[in-house]
Formats: sequence, C-alpha cells, structure tokens
Amino acid sequence: MKYINTLILSILFSSAVLAQSTDSLYLNIVIPEQDTVMYSYSRYRVAANTLPQASAFINGKETKVYATGAFVDMIYPENDTTHIEFKVVLDGKEITRNMVLIKPKREPVVFNGKEIKDRMVKPGNDVWLNTGEKLVVQTMATPGEHMVFNIDGFKRNIPMRELTRDESGGRQGIYQGSYVVKPSDYVMKQHITFKMKKGLFGYIKKTSDFEVTLGGGVRVGKVIEDGAYLNTGLGTDRLGGYKYGFIEKDILLNITGMKNGIYRVKLADGLDAWIPEKFVELMPAGIEPVESLTGNIRISGNSSQDIITLNLSEKLPYTTFQQLDPNKIIVDVYGATSNTNWKTKMLSSEGIKKVEWEQVANGQFRMIIELDHSQNWGYSVGYGWGSQLAVKINRPPVITDPINPLSGRTIAVDAGHGGSSNGALGASGAKEKEVTLQITQKLDSLLKLEGVNVILPRTNDSYVYMSERREAVLSNKADLLVSIHANSIGYTSDPREVAGTGGFYKHMAYRPLAEILYKNMLDLGLKDYGLTGSFNFSLNGPIEFPNALVETAFISNPEEEILLLDPDFQVKIAEQIVKGLKEFYLKHASIEALEEMPEK
Ligand SMILES: [Zn+2]
Repeated sequence: MKYINTLILSILFSSAVLAQSTDSLYLNIVIPEQDTVMYSYSRYRVAANTLPQASAFINGKETKVYATGAFVDMIYPENDTTHIEFKVVLDGKEITRNMVLIKPKREPVVFNGKEIKDRMVKPGNDVWLNTGEKLVVQTMATPGEHMVFNIDGFKRNIPMRELTRDESGGRQGIYQGSYVVKPSDYVMKQHITFKMKKGLFGYIKKTSDFEVTLGGGVRVGKVIEDGAYLNTGLGTDRLGGYKYGFIEKDILLNITGMKNGIYRVKLADGLDAWIPEKFVELMPAGIEPVESLTGNIRISGNSSQDIITLNLSEKLPYTTFQQLDPNKIIVDVYGATSNTNWKTKMLSSEGIKKVEWEQVANGQFRMIIELDHSQNWGYSVGYGWGSQLAVKINRPPVITDPINPLSGRTIAVDAGHGGSSNGALGASGAKEKEVTLQITQKLDSLLKLEGVNVILPRTNDSYVYMSERREAVLSNKADLLVSIHANSIGYTSDPREVAGTGGFYKHMAYRPLAEILYKNMLDLGLKDYGLTGSFNFSLNGPIEFPNALVETAFISNPEEEILLLDPDFQVKIAEQIVKGLKEFYLKHASIEALEEMPEK
C-alpha cells in the first residue's frame, strides 16, 4: 500500500502533477479511524489526505494542504455529539464525508427494588494480604440499604457503608467495607459474600468471583520461565509498567502478597518488587524464606570479558544499574547477607579497576564494580554454575584503524514495528513501520560500506516479537543496537505544534550512545525533542549491549512527515546515524596504533 503512496508522491513532487486529471480527486481520512468515535476530551486532532492541489475544508474552515496531500486540524468537542465534516474541492468537483464524535455518558444505574448488582467494584482480582494490611471491598447495590460482607469461612457480617456522591465519583449505591489483617489470621483463597438486609432475618446475598487470601507470611516461589521480569510497582501503561530487569528461571523469591494477579516480592527490608503470577510457582507452605550468606568474590577475565563471581547457597534475585564518571556497574543481591571475607583479583581482569561490596540493608548485598574504561560495552548478570552468581562484562572493542572505526564491527539496527504493528500514522497515510524500514535499509547500505557486519532483526513487513529482536542482537553478538522509530502525538495535541528529533535510553550506561546519535540528528536542523532517560521501551531494556532509540522525527507533524517520506532525507538520517556511531567508537573504543605499514 505504502509503495503505491510513495509512487504517487514521487509523481506529485514532479511538475507532471499539475496535468493530473481531477477525476482522481480523493479523500482519505486517517483520524478519526471510524465514522463514529467515542471521545471524552476537549481537544481532538483530525488528519486526512487528498490531492495536493485540492482545497480542503474541515467544518467549513479551509485548511492548509501540504505537499503530501495531508491536511490536519484540531476539533474542540463541546456537546454530547460533535460533527466533523471533511470536504475537498478541485475544479468544481468535491467530496464530502461526515464523522461524529460522541461524548461517552455514564448511564444511570437502575435498581429494581432491593438488589446487589453483579458488579464487584473492589478488588477486581484475587488478592493476598499480610499482617497489618487492609482488605478493602466495594460492591454496588440499591442505595440507602443496610449492607455487610463475609469473608467466607472466616469472618461474618463486617459492616459496609455507602460512599457519598463524591467518593463514588457521582454514582450512588457503592458500598465499602474493610478488614485489617491480624497476625493470627490465616485464610486461604476464600470468596467474599456481600449481604443486604431484607426483612427481619433475611438477606440478599451475592458472592464474589475473586478470592481472598489473608496472612500466611512469606511464601517461597520459584521462577518457572525465562524472560520473567521484576517490576518496581503495579503501574501499567503502553510500555508495561517500569521494570527492574529480567531474572532467570529457577531463581527463588520471597512472596508476601498479591494484587491484580501480580505477586509482591520482598526484596529486602522495606523494598518490594512485583512479578506476574504466570512467571512463578509457589512452593508448599512452611518453607523458610530464601536467604543466603555470601561467599567470596573472585575477579578474573578471559580474552574479551571480565568476570566477577559471587558464591551463594541459593539462586537469589538480583537487580543491576550503572553509574557514569566513574563508570560503575552495581549489582544488588536480595536475601543475601555478607559473609564475604575476601576478594581475589586476578591479573587477567584487565577491564576492572576495583570491586567493592556493602550491606545496604538487611537482605540487600551490593557489589560495586568500577571499570577501567569510560564506556560500558554491555554485561550480563546470571547464574552459571549452581548458585554462583556471575557478572560478565564486555571489554571495549579495539580500533586499529582510526580512519575506519566501524570496520569489522557487528552493529544491529532495528526497524520499529512491522506487520500488524503499523506504528504511528501520518496524515498523508504514511505508516511508521514503512518509514522505519526504509531508513533502516539505507542505514544498512551505508554501514556495509564502512565494513560493518549489520544485523537487522526486521528486514521486511512482518511482525517480529520484541524477544526475537533482542535474541537476534544477542545471538549475533552485536556490539550495540540502534532502534529506529518515528514519533507521534496523541489525540489531544495539535500535530502542527509538536515536532523534532529525540534520543531515548533506559540505562544510564547507554546514555552516551543515545546522546551522540541525538546530537547528530539535531545537526539535520530538526527541532529539539530532547534526550529521554529511564525510557521503559523493551529494546532499551537489555543490559547486554549498548542500545539507544532514535525517534527520527514526528510522523504526525505534516512538515516532518514530508521529510520522513523523502528518500533523500532518509539517506541524510542514515548518514547522521553512521556519523554518530563513528564518533561513539572513536570516543569510547580503545585505540591501538596500527603496526607500521610495510613500504611498497
Ligand atoms: Zn514507534
């Protein structure tokens, strides 16, 4: 589809365009995506395209048509129903289409006498709470009644009160009750029964779908899947909630509760993490919480990596982060208490300046690894032999020919989206997945000219899972990864006002790469959309290789969409990224002088 668009574009950009017959006048609407859209905000962006020489009107107001044929505007819905009329006109011909935005209305709840609605408001999912925590339950029922709840088989008739209008968000008939877990409580997977008094002795009852577990202390759980991860909290968004990082299979976790189908993991005193239920198998009750004394630390190396090992008696969970200036890797091991009486540093550990450890809190043992070079080139943390934790750290690549710093490198370039994932859409109909692939292909050609072994996780219009993309980078032992994307705004912003290029990274260690690429992109004269850190994008997640995401420009901005579709500008983007990569290597790889060239 896009190739047809590109074809049309290249014709349009030439002067032959003007001769084109008006028979081909068309109107494509990109936003709204359907004729009728439910929408509750006060600003809404619309985007459509037509022939570039046509005039376009949105609700009667003429709107600029860009060289791609794109036209955009903002709509300000005021009423429950907002009509949007798109009209394009050329040489007396016109096409009109009408779309509608409807403000979703809260339907008033109708009660037929005394009843408990089949709607459990809180908690919506299974919950497990421990001593001191408060179980809060809510249900919807006829207003003005007397309500109680049971924790089946455990506690009966705990009073509920009806929330006032404000607390219930304007609704009536929401009842809330609570129970604080006592140290002696132990309730396994019980339902809640809501009860409304009817007559002198009778009740109307309704039982919850979810189950409640109270007490039980710490349960040991075992990670049963590779690719499991720990989240910092219960937050979710399009990027999936902030992740500490991946943890491997067979690691043992101390689990102390559950909310929304997610287990709470006690890492150390006062520090929790969260892990989806599917990654964990609970061990039988009564098993003591997992902990280990730490053994001794050994620091060694081979031809390309430095390796730090720490002996433990169990596979404990860990997290890792980095610091810059000086360049450090920090690894926290949870459930570990120091009994490390010595550390041995072998001469082979060339890339390590020093390793220190400290007991940060009860159950939190920290290794601080200071590297001998300015840039982190990737590392891994994991269990190799039994429960021996190993941190393997890549040494900087060696440049022997500073004129061709990229020669012989393995570099991965990931074209964002693909297949069923279109990514963002431009007003002219351009798809992010196509633009990213075109830029990636140009980058591939340029890098090959530099002597680079290029790894492309996506080479055509197919859907490639994030885990497959990561695996492609790892298994091909790529030195680093650059992800190519095009940015977009949401529905509430004016697409003409938001533009620019941005650099994104998650881990501090890889900020220098993101920054160099971003600065080189700015040299194209694009607006500054900033350098964003702690970015929770999955391909910024790996620590095993330096990685950065380039949000080349905004495809939602009609001016930048023209640039993103322009093959010459795509080449310029690719050139800037190559320039940035060269700069990165020259700055951070270790440069060894070439041996004297023999005279010819
Ligand atoms: Zn994207």
